Amino acid sequence: MKQVVVGLGANLGAGRKTLQAAARALRGAYPDGFAASPLYRSAPQHCPPGSPPFWNAVVRFAVPDALAPEALLDALLALEQAHGRARSAPNAPRTLDLDLLFFGEERIASPRLTVPHPRALDRDFVLGPLAALDPERRWPRTEHRVADLWAAFPGPRTLKLVADQWC
Ligand code: ADP
Ligand code: MG
Repeated sequence: MKQVVVGLGANLGAGRKTLQAAARALRGAYPDGFAASPLYRSAPQHCPPGSPPFWNAVVRFAVPDALAPEALLDALLALEQAHGRARSAPNAPRTLDLDLLFFGEERIASPRLTVPHPRALDRDFVLGPLAALDPERRWPRTEHRVADLWAAFPGPRTLKLVADQWC
């Protein structure tokens, strides 16, 4: 088995309910080792003017070694679509965003997939939930502890804790 981490975000539509439904769907599909961070709200960053605030969380679970990362990406994109995700301008408001943050220890640079997610380290709404869920995790290659990366995070810090148990 291989441990993966997925970031969840939404700032359109049902928000919290959508994140809950998506997390439960992932837990149903990949029950082994499933765990979720707390649920947060965060301010829109690099988004079109007037974008609403986000709901954010991260989840981790184990997948069989035979599962290809592109197959997991397809499952994530299908789940986004099932919750009404439509793509327009970059960073436009979305009903559900599922980003593959880690896929085991693998480093992937394919046309469809970059893992670890290239912007994860710049985002409070990824690093904060990850530090709550998995403080001892080591970042691939640099081996930095996630808790240390979060403690040194330069900002902006916009996260607000909403709930420890939410899915
Ligand atoms: P963003 O999450 O940056 O707002 P999108 O959700 O619209 O962007 O994703 C656009 C594309 O990014 C996806 O179709 C996918 O092929 C690609 N992509 C590359 N790396 C990843 C990753 N680690 N997780 C999710 N999507 C990724
Ligand atoms: Mg995405």
